[in-house]
Amino acid sequence: MICSKNIQYNFKIIVTLFSAFMIFSAQARYSAADFILKNGLRVICIEKKSSPIIFFSIWYKCGSKDDAISRSGVAHYLEHMAFASNKMEFNNFLEDVGAFRNAFTSINVICFHEVVPKENIETVFEHEAMRMTSLDIDDNAFLSEKNAILEERSMRIDNDPNGEAQESFLANIFNREIGGIEIIGWRHEIESIQKDDLYQFHDKWFAPNNAVIVISGDFDLQKIKKLAEKYFGEIPQKEICNISEKKESTIYQKEVKCGSPKNGSLSLVEYLYAVPFLSKQNLRKAIALEVAFMAINRPTFFVKKILKDVMNRASKISFGYTDRIFQYDIASVEFSASSIDDLYEIENIWRHLKKKVVEVGISKSELDAVKRQYLLSLAYKKDDIVSMSNYFGWLLVCGYSMDEIQSIDDIIQSISEKECNDLLSQVFSQDPCAILRVVPKGYDRE
Ligand SMILES: [Zn+2]
Repeated sequence: MICSKNIQYNFKIIVTLFSAFMIFSAQARYSAADFILKNGLRVICIEKKSSPIIFFSIWYKCGSKDDAISRSGVAHYLEHMAFASNKMEFNNFLEDVGAFRNAFTSINVICFHEVVPKENIETVFEHEAMRMTSLDIDDNAFLSEKNAILEERSMRIDNDPNGEAQESFLANIFNREIGGIEIIGWRHEIESIQKDDLYQFHDKWFAPNNAVIVISGDFDLQKIKKLAEKYFGEIPQKEICNISEKKESTIYQKEVKCGSPKNGSLSLVEYLYAVPFLSKQNLRKAIALEVAFMAINRPTFFVKKILKDVMNRASKISFGYTDRIFQYDIASVEFSASSIDDLYEIENIWRHLKKKVVEVGISKSELDAVKRQYLLSLAYKKDDIVSMSNYFGWLLVCGYSMDEIQSIDDIIQSISEKECNDLLSQVFSQDPCAILRVVPKGYDRE
């Protein structure tokens, strides 16, 4: 059932929300402006005049978490169809002017983007507005795209031991609203998707008040405002239920064991640690934990050095924390080894080392090194119009404001080792909330 209905906005009542702010960063040499049309469409313009090109991206706040029960894969399928069927002449036009285009789907986003010479930006506005308002699915294209998607699934999941293990892990430990399913969907459910499922998804979520446009490059701001108004200004907003806000994480406490479908003795285990004390509202804590995980992931960190010295065999340990993209707050520790016995040995050592991480933590010099590394990586991102737009786009659709995004550099600089160590201590004082093991084919020892 569709829970949205169109609402015609009222010119008399709604005043233009244009205004916002201008930001200039001397260090990154760009300026950003943010405005919102009457129908709720938000437009972020990041001016950077290094080349006569413009990167246009439109981010819809919907994704695989919004697939209906027993219809996994609809968001991704829609992305494919909307990308392919959005008027062939647009695709041909982009080819002719030498533009690039692509699209992707994640748990909480469907994004379409183009890189075009600056003089061609109006055509992009015109066609992206059509993509928002109409979807025209040809029967043959629908079937051939289904085959392409099933092929994509074979490559990424069915024939990839790691993909298969991750799929099983996600499905077993998370409820589906927070990503307990692979974006591409289960094979039998993809096979059962009908054209109407795609129309319904499009009708429900493709609306100006559920989208953000991020434009970067060499443009005239006044012209962009006029184009946004001309092509998107008259599109009625919709009632969007369940706007993508971070939900309560529900993690089922489980141990999931997968047999690798391939021959070989590589074994791996992934421990997940819940991070319930963080929330989207606490950007500083999220960044502090991210920085702390970068520090413990360095090859010079004592845990890695000890494991390397003790084991002296092919093995790996990596720490991951990825709050700001996903819907859930988890940190992970992954070990891999060239045999299951080596893996058990690493896990035993980790049990002791984990206490040491809580006691000792990271040093100021380790923290300073990763802060420099982090700031440098952000400077690189902001130097390139595509990665800069993606950086802003992800954080905006995850609910962060422009002010918050602009403050990230300052936050990184001011984080102390005490903040990092307190967070590491909170994470590793608890037992893992879920464990995934991938063991060699035919291995059945408990
Ligand atoms: Zn795809």
